[in-house]
Amino acid sequence: MSDFDSALRPESRIVHPPVEEVTGSRPLGVPLHQSHLFAFEDNDAMTTAFGGPDQAFFYNRFGNPTVRSLEKAVAGLEGGAGAIATASGMGAINSVLLALLSSGDHVIAQRSLYGGTFAVLADLARRWGVEVTHVRGDDPAEVRAALRPNTRLLHLETISNPTTRVTDLPGLIGVAKEAGVLSVVDNTFATPLLCRPIEHGADIVVHSATKYLGGHSDVLAGLAVFADAELHRTVWHYAVELGASADPHSAWLTLRGLQTLALRVRRHCETALELAGRLAAHPAVTAVHYPGLPAHPDHELARRLLPQGHGGVLAFDLAGGREAARTFTESVRLASLAPSLGGVHTLVLHPASTSHRQLDDAELAAAGIGPGTVRVAVGIEHPEDLWADLDQALGKL
Ligand code: PLP
Repeated sequence: MSDFDSALRPESRIVHPPVEEVTGSRPLGVPLHQSHLFAFEDNDAMTTAFGGPDQAFFYNRFGNPTVRSLEKAVAGLEGGAGAIATASGMGAINSVLLALLSSGDHVIAQRSLYGGTFAVLADLARRWGVEVTHVRGDDPAEVRAALRPNTRLLHLETISNPTTRVTDLPGLIGVAKEAGVLSVVDNTFATPLLCRPIEHGADIVVHSATKYLGGHSDVLAGLAVFADAELHRTVWHYAVELGASADPHSAWLTLRGLQTLALRVRRHCETALELAGRLAAHPAVTAVHYPGLPAHPDHELARRLLPQGHGGVLAFDLAGGREAARTFTESVRLASLAPSLGGVHTLVLHPASTSHRQLDDAELAAAGIGPGTVRVAVGIEHPEDLWADLDQALGKL
């Protein structure tokens, strides 16, 4: 202990415990820096720290070592120049949209977006004078026709929820690029192990890390990854003002989950394909939506865009409509009736009465969601146990 420390009274010493530094070895687990504040020896160094996303740490809203580890890990996986970790997927999406859009700008967005994203765009249109045109996601010509001189952003999702339509990323992004329009892709359903939108020309990739990246239903987090360092800096400044930054403990949990992502995603994909095939042969099921099945309308595109696997989400339609869906979702025993996806547990959901309840019958039909559509977010349990569970629940109809 230094002379300075040993002269302190207990009330002062207790506020300044020694902080042990690791020397001579290195931790294998990523350290959790649960400190929101960092002190300096030198005032000039602190001034420099305010400058951008790659400077020294001083206050968590601007950056934290654990959070930065997550940002670098996911930027690396997506092939981006930098990333921002946020408190939720919506934190990432809002940071990107609010940082880049101004009143009078025009956005082209897929119609089948995650409900939260759809609502933000509707709000931007209603209250902030941002114009929004919705497109299907399978036709570059539709995007070309929607372009205007004030079009600023194209917003897409790799795989749509819940009917698992696969978006023609290269085709649609190509049209945006020619027109100088930025492309944002929500890659939550695919993960960077199945698809890397930046390789198809995307400028920004967003994630709800709450789903596959975290993977254990114990953390809410988001990420925005940027192909270009300047775009990263622009959105980082806004995210800091917005207060969307990730908490270090959430970043730590997400990093811990991320280490097993490859194993989990492989298992999710294999089991989903197996269950989709068995569901398609069941007499109570009229249709199965899974891009790995040859009958899926985007099967050929999925084989090119997602060659490693087609994701862990599938949906199917029950002949008995809404009542059959209720009976089924309340009869599963290994699977749970719950929203969300991407965790180790298998989840079932009736979109028409929950995630998509704001749509009227015509809008549901346009989105390919029937009264008897059930979504399954496949977990990593044994496929035979899962099939036994789905089969017994189908047997209750
Ligand atoms: N994007 C997609 C595709 C989602 O499914 C979700 C949530 O379900 C979000 C974004 C929002 O993420 P979060 O709930 O982490 O804010």
